[in-house]
Amino acid sequence: MRALVTGGAGFIGSHLCHQLLVSGWSVICLDNFASGMHRSVARLLEHPDFRLVERDVSAGPLSDDFRADRYFHLASPASPNPYTPRSYMAQPLETAMVNSIGLRHVLDLAHRHGGRALFASTSEIYGDPLEHPQREEYWGNVSSTGPRSCYDEAKRFGEALSMIYLRKYAVDVRLIRIFNTYGPNMDPEDGRMLPNFITQALSNRPLTIYGDGHYTRSLCYVQDLLEGMLAVMESERPDAGGRVYNLGNPEEHTILEYAKMVLELIPSSSSTISYLPPVPDDPSRRQPDISRARSELEWEPRMPLREGLARTIDYFREVTTPR
Ligand code: UDP
Repeated sequence: MRALVTGGAGFIGSHLCHQLLVSGWSVICLDNFASGMHRSVARLLEHPDFRLVERDVSAGPLSDDFRADRYFHLASPASPNPYTPRSYMAQPLETAMVNSIGLRHVLDLAHRHGGRALFASTSEIYGDPLEHPQREEYWGNVSSTGPRSCYDEAKRFGEALSMIYLRKYAVDVRLIRIFNTYGPNMDPEDGRMLPNFITQALSNRPLTIYGDGHYTRSLCYVQDLLEGMLAVMESERPDAGGRVYNLGNPEEHTILEYAKMVLELIPSSSSTISYLPPVPDDPSRRQPDISRARSELEWEPRMPLREGLARTIDYFREVTTPR
């Protein structure tokens, strides 16, 4: 079995490539390194069944060389932080294109050759949600012109495009909405909450909280997320094509609580907490309702938060400590 993973050098994609190789798959990883990292796939390059192609999936149609049994479309910048170059706000056009044109190139391959596709959508399609927690049926509260729209509207369009290919061409496309995910292979410089907090704590700088710290997020460990993603892709339910699954961890904490946990887990740190102005359009709460994945896929996250955080901190120590 062969898989094509777009965004395979990214945070989640690199774990997926690894997992597929371990399970005996042959893997083509397509990545233009807009937010992926060479470091994350360096070890995979030694594997005989791993092929890395450095290319922008939005640039043009994919030739039949890329045909596969499974297509995972994960390529997209995903950090919202406007101050970091690899975030989606710094690459708004590329972000809009990869979730529309880039996705189309992948769906065209699946249409020509068969095989299943999976589109990685996001909890951001719920915007600043008015329903809490968010169920898959919730249509969201999204600003089509706000600073996040290059990402959340592109992901919404990606879901719509997937449904067009399903309805018009019977392409078997699976849809997941990924909530905040963390773990090794996160980019220490992508500006997201945990990479910032952990690198700040490790270098004894103040932890930067945007706003008053009472906003919430629910964090899922990357290995748990992967298991959910593969369960969706391999589901044999007759209605699995086009059925949306929230994947995330319902355990919700405030940003201040996460900052305190990071400080507790890095006791050598002399960092304090520094409060900065709030980020515009920042969703105030986010928590997945995962009843559907629980009942239909028997999936739920298992990694305890503190253990996941400790593993993530170990990774950041390894990659950020000067040798
Ligand atoms: N955040 C923060 N300090 C930081 C980075 C992020 O307070 O240094 C906040 C951010 O404003 C948001 C939450 O942490 O409320 C999660 O942000 P992240 O960038 O990780 O992802 P998001 O959930 O917004 O996509």
